[in-house]
Amino acid sequence: MFHEIEPIKLNNHFTDFAPEDADLIFVLTGTGRKDDKVLMKKDEDETIALPTLAQIKACNPDADYTYRYLFSMDDARFFLLERAVPAVLPEGFAWEILRSVRTTKPKYLSFAATVAYHLFKWNLDNRFCGRCGAETVHDHKERAFVCPNCGNMIFPRIQPAVIIGLTHGDTICTSKYAGARGTGNRALLAGFCEIGETAEETVAREVMEEVGLKVKNVRYYKSQPWGFESDLLLGFWAEVDGDTHIHLDEEELASAEFVPRSELEPMKNLNSLTATMIEAFRKGEA
Ligand SMILES: [Zn+2]
Repeated sequence: MFHEIEPIKLNNHFTDFAPEDADLIFVLTGTGRKDDKVLMKKDEDETIALPTLAQIKACNPDADYTYRYLFSMDDARFFLLERAVPAVLPEGFAWEILRSVRTTKPKYLSFAATVAYHLFKWNLDNRFCGRCGAETVHDHKERAFVCPNCGNMIFPRIQPAVIIGLTHGDTICTSKYAGARGTGNRALLAGFCEIGETAEETVAREVMEEVGLKVKNVRYYKSQPWGFESDLLLGFWAEVDGDTHIHLDEEELASAEFVPRSELEPMKNLNSLTATMIEAFRKGEA
């Protein structure tokens, strides 16, 4: 999965660093939608690079941009260009769809882009205090917005969600999303945890809602920080309990079926937990 970047280490401890010329800059645009973009250089073989502060400054010498420290990976420090885009783009760099980093390399930069995007959306959504409406400012000690009027502190929000490898004997339930979410790729049943329920209860509820089946033997597998939706995705295996006849939620899904292990195609890219789980099942590891 693309967060597995060993031996490179993510250091997400917040310090209010000022950016230096060699630091890498995330420039993101959009309003939290699927077509949100990131400024990067992308080669034909899907290798990506980010602009440095020096590169942005060189072509925008008079600009007064604000940069916010995000995190580091080994010696590489990442910053967000806040609420602005460079008037002139550094040579070779272009706007790319943020979600295209699902298939780019190196893996640590793809992962960095999703974490930066999570923080970009948090930044976008919290300019004003939800409690009193005053304009917020950055806290200098913690990664938080603080309201100078009422003292409200707003930390990045991480939303728990589950993804489910629902099995029945030697088959696994794979689905395809309906409508605009549909990519044609195999997906697994998934959904956000709701107020007052455990992750295991979310598994049971989502399976019932999406395919009308009961589950048993719910077991935790692995998790993935998945910045596209600001979530922490919790992977579970579950077995069908009783009747295996699927009653499809047609608003959510275009199709869902139990596919025999032997009919699954090998996954080309294991950046996502979805692909990792389908591949684990295909190989008989689950
Ligand atoms: Zn306030």
